[in-house]
Amino acid sequence: MKKVASFALLLSFSLPVFSAPPAHWTYEGKAGPEHWADLSPEFATCHSGKFQSPIDIRMPIDAQLPALKLSFHSAAEKIVNNGHTLQVTVNDEADFPLDGETFALMQYHFHTPSENLINGKSFPLEAHFVHSNEQGELAVVAVMFEVGAENSALKPILQALPDEENKTVDVGARYDLKPLFPDNLSYYRFSGSLTTPPCTEGLRWLVLKKPVTLSAEQLAVFQKALRHSNNRPVQPLHGRMIVE
Ligand SMILES: [Zn+2]
Repeated sequence: MKKVASFALLLSFSLPVFSAPPAHWTYEGKAGPEHWADLSPEFATCHSGKFQSPIDIRMPIDAQLPALKLSFHSAAEKIVNNGHTLQVTVNDEADFPLDGETFALMQYHFHTPSENLINGKSFPLEAHFVHSNEQGELAVVAVMFEVGAENSALKPILQALPDEENKTVDVGARYDLKPLFPDNLSYYRFSGSLTTPPCTEGLRWLVLKKPVTLSAEQLAVFQKALRHSNNRPVQPLHGRMIVE
């Protein structure tokens, strides 16, 4: 008994240190992007990093990048509004080859307006398709949206949108991811980071040059669900090269 009691005592002292909840951060105000690094030591990279995302994509260098070979599977999926973004978790085999390795799609989520800019141009919506290789290294394929024709692949997502934050629901329908990507998969590539705390670096960023469309009504549903803009401002390049 004694042992248990002293262990419990030890736990009661040590738990607060080890289980501190992640610092609350936002897109505006005192916990907004310019203060992220001050909110937690774990967020230090948000300020000190030299490979931060997003960026304004300008003056790319022609590197004859290999064609992107994405696969578009329909998938059983779950969606959550986590208060920062609308995120769709996938469970399928939508892999693509990059740098001689295989990257598997883990989740995709949305930012409105876009986080990355292309020649200074902002888009009303940007999707981030987050892929991981076996070592857990991340590659993000980003797609810009402009207002135009309705996007059929967004329909089941927007219909399934949870009414409460942090409530995960099944999307229900199986659907084709293809309409979330342009036919022309030419892209810009650069090194970057997570665009949310802890702003971890070492991510491979591939931003597709051509946008796809969504309707004004679909954009309004995104904006209403998110209730606020969720784009981190663009970050300095610090000599980074953008290739195309
Ligand atoms: Zn993102």
